[in-house]
Amino acid sequence: MTIETTINGPQTNQTSEMVRTEKLVKRFGSNVVLNGVDFSVGRGQAVVVIGPSGSGKTTLLRCLNHLERIDDGRIYIDGQLVGYREEKGRLVEDSEANIARMRSQIGFVFQRFNLFAHKTALENIIEAPIYVLRQPKGEVIERARMLLDKVGLANKEDSYPHRLSGGQQQRVAIARALAMNPKLMLFDEATSALDPELVGEVLKVMRQLAEEGMTMVVVTHEMGFARDVADHVVFMDQAQIVEQGPPEQIFGECRNERTRNFLSRVL
Ligand code: ADP
Repeated sequence: MTIETTINGPQTNQTSEMVRTEKLVKRFGSNVVLNGVDFSVGRGQAVVVIGPSGSGKTTLLRCLNHLERIDDGRIYIDGQLVGYREEKGRLVEDSEANIARMRSQIGFVFQRFNLFAHKTALENIIEAPIYVLRQPKGEVIERARMLLDKVGLANKEDSYPHRLSGGQQQRVAIARALAMNPKLMLFDEATSALDPELVGEVLKVMRQLAEEGMTMVVVTHEMGFARDVADHVVFMDQAQIVEQGPPEQIFGECRNERTRNFLSRVL
């Protein structure tokens, strides 16, 4: 009989969790920005992270794909340790190649769309699958067209970013992330830079993704989206997760005074 030990964390990617952080600590100088955060996301779940400005939400997202180096704790994505590997019981920073491979499996949509200005919508989407994943161009283009259609921009494949509205650019950015076939999508205030009338079209695409079962972590100030779309809502304040639960709980009878204060200010 073999006994599997989980003392050193999951070794395989058979876990039901897509994301797990354990006692995650991140500091900027003496400023503790994540103070022992245990955060998890199940496969197929849409988790929405809310909380006041400066509470650590963006930093948490950035740590998940090692855009920030953590100071303590561990992060697992799909059962794999992020950014580090264990050698003789000690953690050593992982190779650039492994970190890049891990990042290629995680879609990240930022507040600013960061499209290549000199490339069309279609060219923006096909760039990474062709040059990073080395997939055949014909297949990549076919898939890119399908993704443009999915985000409602089938007729914009030849448009350059400056000819697209902010909402359209953000939808191209989402299609570009999806073109890598990610196992996890991270959204960092993806609608915050948009004119109010353009927010809905981006949220609609995000909602559709959640309904299709994409695993996603969404940092947002859009409380309606959190309430309607999230499987799980996490409230952060002062570098910690203060309260979490299903939206009915957080928006209904949340117990914590800090959560109630925050919601009374934003709702
Ligand atoms: P939120 O997304 O909840 O607004 P952030 O994660 O952006 O919060 O920021 C949390 C804290 O970390 C803030 O005090 C912020 O000033 C600080 N911070 C974020 N990024 C950096 C950085 N690169 N250097 C120094 N401090 C930072």
